Amino acid sequence: MLLTITSTNPPATDLGYLLHKNPTRCQSFELPFGMAHVFYPEASDRRCTVAMLLEIDPVGLVRGEGRTLKEYVNDRPYAASSFLSVAISRVFGTAMRGRSTERPVLALTPLSLSAGISVQPCREGEVFLRRLFEPLGYSVQTEQHQLDEEFPEWGESRYFTVGLSGEVRLQDLLSHLYVLVPVLDDDKHYWVGDDEVDKLLERGGEWLAAHPEKEVIAERYLKHQRTLSNEALSRLIEEGDEGLAREEETLEEIITLGEQRIGAVAAALKNSGARRILDLGCGEGRLLGTLLQDRDFEEIVGVDVSVRSLKRARDRLRVDRLPPMQRSRLKLFQGSLLYRDRRLAGYDAAAVVEVIEHFDPPRLAAFERVLFGFARPGTVVLTTPNAEGNANFETLLDGEFRHRDHRFEWKREEFRAWCNGVAEKFGYGVRYLPVGREDEAVGPPTQMAVFERESPLRQREESS
Ligand code: SAH
Repeated sequence: MLLTITSTNPPATDLGYLLHKNPTRCQSFELPFGMAHVFYPEASDRRCTVAMLLEIDPVGLVRGEGRTLKEYVNDRPYAASSFLSVAISRVFGTAMRGRSTERPVLALTPLSLSAGISVQPCREGEVFLRRLFEPLGYSVQTEQHQLDEEFPEWGESRYFTVGLSGEVRLQDLLSHLYVLVPVLDDDKHYWVGDDEVDKLLERGGEWLAAHPEKEVIAERYLKHQRTLSNEALSRLIEEGDEGLAREEETLEEIITLGEQRIGAVAAALKNSGARRILDLGCGEGRLLGTLLQDRDFEEIVGVDVSVRSLKRARDRLRVDRLPPMQRSRLKLFQGSLLYRDRRLAGYDAAAVVEVIEHFDPPRLAAFERVLFGFARPGTVVLTTPNAEGNANFETLLDGEFRHRDHRFEWKREEFRAWCNGVAEKFGYGVRYLPVGREDEAVGPPTQMAVFERESPLRQREESS
């Protein structure tokens, strides 16, 4: 029995790191039922194939009393079956769990992979084979073998040579084979007990719940023991739902917080009636993209100190391909918010989104003078993380910032103290709005301040 796995993802020899098997060596592993030999028939930058040759001892398997000749003469040494699954988990177990010490990111990345199974039994025929693998994203090639080439009239056998290819993570390819090979064979060389349900869910949990043939797969994997397959299916459904809900929640937090922030800032800008807008520390230009879509914003200027961010913004917004009208509304330039810059003067409004926490605290005063003292836009919409809200970010350790480059993160009180001071010093009024889900105890994840320059008239009134 021969299984091959080929990567055409350059450098393809990284397959060796993912499998923890050196491409220049041939290694053999002893298994309860025989030997597994692992070697690489090809290993170049563009194409690398690992082969696992299983040598199964058919006599050793059935040694004992009361065996019939039939049991000595069987297809087990040649056909892919649950023996292959055991070999995969023993020899490629770390890779099947998605771990790699040398290439941890690659282990989680879909690669151009193909697998070849020399002989796969499948009584139900090619259609069934396809029904199992195609929903997982593989293109499937099969060749069915005749019972005997000398006697074609005997017809086709139940044996296929199978090729699978797709863009998958190695981890997934291995667990698909681990589960589906014995399902196709529809037999198991060992007693199937309760722990087999655990194995099925561990290997199949993520993809099996969504597989259109999940009932058949569970039934055959568990050797047609109804109670086991029912248990597996109900757990699949429950765990699948939980998993999905969990995924959605994290996704929602990631998507909506970023999007809500942009939405909140854009709304505050729009409410101010501003037409000419600065986005200071514009980064990759997410806010710029949103503002461009609203024609009320006549001129939109992105400024960032980082040339790389500006390039990304240009690429993301496809500036070169914007229609001329849109193109003429957008400007991008490099500049620092810590130095006076004449180009920043004369705008209706400025957005400063998730930027101030990147400044060293001693430099904040310079920023205040540059923006509120010198550029003096009518409106400033400024956001920063709420340090108290970090308690709700599960992945953060206590006291850890949300971003490695953050120099500080303020609690609500600290933010307000700074904003009030700035407003007073430079003649602005300020109000505060939450962004994101507001928690009763710790507040929202992002805090936003909207500064409005007090009208010259009012300033005069006040000073007289
Ligand atoms: N406003 C964007 C980016 C926030 S990340 C968004 O919300 O997605 C902070 C950005 O501030 C980075 O792009 C960084 O390059 C920029 N930045 C940091 N220090 C700066 C400075 N002194 N002058 C201008 N931009 C600065």
